[in-house]
Amino acid sequence: MEQLETSAPASTLTPHATSVVVWDVPSAVVPGERFRIRVGVKCADECRLVNHEFGIYDDRATQVAGGALSGQLWPGTTGLYVADVELEAPAGEGLFAWSVRIPSTPPGAGLPGAEPGAGIPHAESSAGFGVRVVSQPECLVTIEAVDEATQTPLSGARVVMHPYRAVTDERGVAMMRVAKGTYRLFVSQTRYVTFGLPVDVAADMTTRAELSVEPVPERN
Ligand SMILES: [Zn+2]
Repeated sequence: MEQLETSAPASTLTPHATSVVVWDVPSAVVPGERFRIRVGVKCADECRLVNHEFGIYDDRATQVAGGALSGQLWPGTTGLYVADVELEAPAGEGLFAWSVRIPSTPPGAGLPGAEPGAGIPHAESSAGFGVRVVSQPECLVTIEAVDEATQTPLSGARVVMHPYRAVTDERGVAMMRVAKGTYRLFVSQTRYVTFGLPVDVAADMTTRAELSVEPVPERN
């Protein structure tokens, strides 16, 4: 049984403005790599956006992926609804201008469930982001992770130089083949403060990461 709306006919409604943001885009990916980005969409009137579809378009305006908002509100925001999307990097190197586009939704396009905002028309919006595809790894980077205080090796520490990642062995050493370039190195281990360092890789190199133990709250 359908419920009748008592508000103005849908056709006379002015579409709400929407805005799209994209984040968690990797700083670089290797050719053909699968990677994830996060898409957020907000209605200017803060409608709850559920099942709103969006498309991801490459530099030739070809749709390469799509998705729909789950209705999950991004924590700390009043109306930003998010979705994770998995994408595949282009096969060639370069910086590619991709975009996310949320099409306009006509009046009455809301799905059953009568969410606030369902059926209200929304204007289209889009946002661009860059996909940097780098050559295959050519430099060997060695990372030695140690406890800052005791200088003992830290095994099992997670090492990230996006898009590359590794885990240290029992000697506290991780080795990664990376493309030449500028990265931010992160080394993390349970109970330690994450170590971060900008690194400029031009050749094989070794870096030492000294991690300090996280402060433990004092007991009363
Ligand atoms: Zn709205």
